[in-house]
Amino acid sequence: MKVEMMDFKAVIGQEEVKRTLISEADGGRLPHALMLTGPEGCGKMPMALALARYLCCMAKPAEGQDACTCLSCRQWEQLIHPDVHFVFPIVANKARKKENCDDWIPAWREMLLNNLYFTYSDWIQQMEVENSQPVIYTRESDNIQRKLSLKSVQGGWRIVIIWLPEKMQEQGANKMLKLLEEPPAQTMFLLVSEEPQKVLGTILSRVQRINMPRLKDEEISQALHLHLGIETEESMMVARMANGSYSKALETISSRDGSSELFQQFTSLMRLAWSRKVKEMKAWSEEMADWGRERQKDFLLYAQRMIRESFTANLHLAELNYMNREEQQFTSRFAPFVSERNAMGIMNELQEAQVHIEQNVNAKMVFFDLILQLTVLIKNH
Ligand SMILES: [Zn+2]
Repeated sequence: MKVEMMDFKAVIGQEEVKRTLISEADGGRLPHALMLTGPEGCGKMPMALALARYLCCMAKPAEGQDACTCLSCRQWEQLIHPDVHFVFPIVANKARKKENCDDWIPAWREMLLNNLYFTYSDWIQQMEVENSQPVIYTRESDNIQRKLSLKSVQGGWRIVIIWLPEKMQEQGANKMLKLLEEPPAQTMFLLVSEEPQKVLGTILSRVQRINMPRLKDEEISQALHLHLGIETEESMMVARMANGSYSKALETISSRDGSSELFQQFTSLMRLAWSRKVKEMKAWSEEMADWGRERQKDFLLYAQRMIRESFTANLHLAELNYMNREEQQFTSRFAPFVSERNAMGIMNELQEAQVHIEQNVNAKMVFFDLILQLTVLIKNH
């Protein structure tokens, strides 16, 4: 299950901020301009979306009940609520007919629906504008002014969510001041800032600021377990490396998915070397030869790491291991085949193959030769 419901349940941890916002909303005490700040990956945008959805909800089910299915909440699930407006940094492109935030809305929606804990670099990638500096153009202030001059479509709250106000062009920020100060009735501005020190002082003085702390390791670990089914031991390890950022934790997990191809190929190599099935060994080297040189090198480096890990596991220095669950399971069975008698030999063969790949020797020959050498070495454990 991925995090997809844009309500307070989708926000990891941050219980105190949630409680404050809900009670202010219920008591009608919310300021009309609120800025959420805090380190990357602490859940500022999920919190802003949850609050906005809560304000727009027509039914407000009690806590513990199922997710609300009122019209407004259903629109929220797809980010198509007509009274919610997003402002975010973009790279305007006339040729692609993408000059306003509204033109980028499909891409923006797709990113959020895919991962509420997206990062700035995710957005750059999503826009495919790697070498440019996105900004919030001055004309967005005019656009918002125009939208707010119309009536609320559903007769309830109108929400403007501004992601990264620090990227606003100065003129646009100045144009926004009046709206922030005296917004139309039932209108709320929600600003989400990563670098509040870069936000114009005049904007800062018109918003109420809520600082969200980094997440606790346990909260990240629990969320990884709950949403991605990752076992506690591994999720705790990932959480510790994530430095309080759920985005960072997700990045770690997805880069590991990329290494699982290497893992598959490594386990086949070792199984084939043990079973000595020549026909399949040939097929394996042909498959390897089809990979690009860089990927072939990745594989050989990965194989060296796995041999090192297996040897370490064999010496029962388990705490030195740095592997995911799948790798650990394999290594625990495979470790007895890597001993002081053959570990060096295997490492040498892998390194030699790496040198040959770097020298552009025929890859099919390099990998077939490697697997042949390993059949001998594996038997001598
Ligand atoms: Zn609802």
